Amino acid sequence: MEGTWRQVVERARAAFASGRCRSLEFRARQLEALERMVREREEEILAAIAADLHKCGPSAYGHEILGVLGELAAAKEELPSWAAPQPVRRNLLTLRDEAYVCPQPLGVVLVIGAWNYPFVLVVQPLIGAIAAGNAVVVKPSEISEHTARLLADLLPQYIDPELYPVVTGGVAETTELLTQRFDHILYTGSSAVGKIVMAAAAKHLTPVTLELGGKSPCYIDKDCDLAVACRRITWGKYMNCGQTCIAPDYILCDPSIQDKVVENIKTTLQEFYGEDVKKSPDYERIVNKRHFRRVLALLEGQKVAHGGEADEASCFIAPTILTDVSPESKVMEEEIFGPVLPIVTVKSVDEAIEFINRREKPLALYVFSNNKKLIKRVISETTSGGVTANDVIMHYFLSTLPFGGVGNSGMGAYHGRHSFETFSHRRACLIKDLKMEGANKLRYPPSSQKKVDWAKFFILKRFNKGRVGLVILALLGVVAAVVIKVSLGSRLST
Ligand code: NAD
Repeated sequence: MEGTWRQVVERARAAFASGRCRSLEFRARQLEALERMVREREEEILAAIAADLHKCGPSAYGHEILGVLGELAAAKEELPSWAAPQPVRRNLLTLRDEAYVCPQPLGVVLVIGAWNYPFVLVVQPLIGAIAAGNAVVVKPSEISEHTARLLADLLPQYIDPELYPVVTGGVAETTELLTQRFDHILYTGSSAVGKIVMAAAAKHLTPVTLELGGKSPCYIDKDCDLAVACRRITWGKYMNCGQTCIAPDYILCDPSIQDKVVENIKTTLQEFYGEDVKKSPDYERIVNKRHFRRVLALLEGQKVAHGGEADEASCFIAPTILTDVSPESKVMEEEIFGPVLPIVTVKSVDEAIEFINRREKPLALYVFSNNKKLIKRVISETTSGGVTANDVIMHYFLSTLPFGGVGNSGMGAYHGRHSFETFSHRRACLIKDLKMEGANKLRYPPSSQKKVDWAKFFILKRFNKGRVGLVILALLGVVAAVVIKVSLGSRLST
């Protein structure tokens, strides 16, 4: 197996070295081909997602395809500006020079996807990595096997199969794959496996982007429209049967509103899924029996205020609400990743902030309140990968925002331009000419206090006054260069 992976990576590296993905036209053509694939094979993609997650077509389209098409549209339109060299501000010493940051492809990138959104979590990073000019080895999750097989079948039909190979397999295969040398790895999955990926990457000094999970808190203030807040929370919590990395994991609220929160969520569940949630086409299933048993075990000893019904044969767990949950209970220890919503009561926003800060840094944080000051306070006194106030999940869909975690919930980020930057090296470029050597004398030995004084002037002087500042800076540069030349007694020609 090791030989096979080595060959795959070597072929991708040779294809990268051929230089064909350097041109923006080539990258744009690959993105167009990817878009054609999504449009032409939409039904097959939706069918694979349905087979993996019991998800109906319109939901799968909204959760997985729309985001990919949006990302493709943005990448195609904005690639020239993302890839353009970005001039940087110069100082007096570099006034005559060209100074810019030039994004460069990293080389061969590995993208490892997770099963819960099996299409978008692989294709979205792939788009950024292609746009940035890399070769990409794609490794979908074996747990969402139908989508994995489909990706392995479809991608080589549409995009360059040498540059963008798909590798399928489980833990053993991924472990072998990780022994290969990559230039970047983007991994989506659990924090536990994130550590394994990072350790493997460290052997080659390969940088990583880790898109992990964790327990994302949701604080509901008393000063809040509970009907609206609970409708939005219900949507984000129970979509994909709770198997969403940025789903609100648990609620923190004042004991006086706990019952109202439960009532509002129950009303919304009825609105969304009807009398019998099991029959609703909009309600998914737990991905497999292992996860089914894991989620069900979290209910042990808890006060079930709503739901709790389950059927192992179909991996069905009803939308469930737990009340008066102890912060020490098992359900509050690990990420739930299922349709179970614990409510932990806190007496104030201070207590909520303290509660959140005592735990691992979450991937997302949600706060509901009419009070903007309170929202800003929660944002400034806590941390998380991202935050949405008065809604859930939605920061994920705004691709101008970087999507990623912090601490235990991950490192690095992607989406839109942020993906392009994640998969690029920001190369610092300074182009000088061979003139003005006299002015350079101040950095050459022998050193002197006079030289230090001049260096201070050149490096520390700052002008931030727009065009006027630039003109003054230019004049100063010329004057200073002449004065230095004279004062340091240069005999070198300029
Ligand atoms: P998973 O089991 O599909 O694993 C993810 C990938 O890791 C797979 O491709 C798998 O082959 C590989 N893998 C698993 N075990 C491995 C090992 N021991 N060594 C090497 N590779 C291994 O997915 P999962 O981990 O169950 O995913 C769920 C987690 O992912 C949750 O914690 C969720 O919050 C997180 N997640 C995060 C994001 C995000 O964008 N931050 C998105 C989705 C899911």
